[in-house]
Amino acid sequence: MNPLVLPLNIGKDDSFRMSWKNRLYKARAALVLPHKLKTNADVDEVLASAQLVVKLTEFAGALREKMLATLASQNQNPQPTQTEVYGLVVRVNINTGRSVEIEDLRRTKSENGAEHVDFMSHSAEVINLNEAEKAILETAINSALTAPVLEALRQPFVSFHPNLSESWKEQQLKSIQPDKLVPFQMLFPSAQPIERFVEGERFIIDDLYCTNPTCSCTDVTCVVLKLDKSSGQEVAWGGFKWDVKSEKFKVLPQFSSKFNASEWFKHFDLNSGIDLKTLLTSRQSFMRTEFINARKSARS
Ligand SMILES: [Zn+2]
Repeated sequence: MNPLVLPLNIGKDDSFRMSWKNRLYKARAALVLPHKLKTNADVDEVLASAQLVVKLTEFAGALREKMLATLASQNQNPQPTQTEVYGLVVRVNINTGRSVEIEDLRRTKSENGAEHVDFMSHSAEVINLNEAEKAILETAINSALTAPVLEALRQPFVSFHPNLSESWKEQQLKSIQPDKLVPFQMLFPSAQPIERFVEGERFIIDDLYCTNPTCSCTDVTCVVLKLDKSSGQEVAWGGFKWDVKSEKFKVLPQFSSKFNASEWFKHFDLNSGIDLKTLLTSRQSFMRTEFINARKSARS
């Protein structure tokens, strides 16, 4: 089975900083899942040891890349330049937020500020670190695993292990109206979006949960959003309800009954790092217990 790559959702430009041997790097990272996670045990395995692929561009180089990109659009014949880029593969324990093992380190060059670099090409140099150098790099990695990076690593899995992140309590409880449908993404903006691509267009599911403590429904309300190119806004494209108990689909009155919910569900599941039924079931249980309890204690 193919590994799944989940780019981390960190802040505005999906990058963080890492200081290593007195140099400052701009880091972009992605989680690599060995396969689609189908069970809670699969999730636990990844939490204990997750493969993280990190691209490190020296900060001076990162700034130069940006300037060059601007210049390249004005100048027909810009001077070719190269920036050194490192590719790092490291295992991290998401529970503790510490690096576990450095698996691979390579260095190559980015041509003319190109975003894409090929660490597998013959020009990429594999760097073998001795124990002392490994220790230095590990320290650098651990210092770079600050709160926003850890949130990005943890939020995709938080419905399985609620104690992974409690940041949502302070920020969100006050602003959410009691007993309304609550979107999961509102509590956990760094959780991975549930997305699919159709002919180059991106669709995402906004999954909302009933938080009325007196209601016994087990539905997840799924609104399918599409980016409207002219306005740049996400617009509702369709939707359905999915019952986590019966695993049946229900029609949402505001959308056409012709909307083929089971077909869309199947396609969203293809791109999802965590099996979609397992994921929505775990989120529904989180909202019915953790969220409702947290709101109760916030009020008392
Ligand atoms: Zn309900």
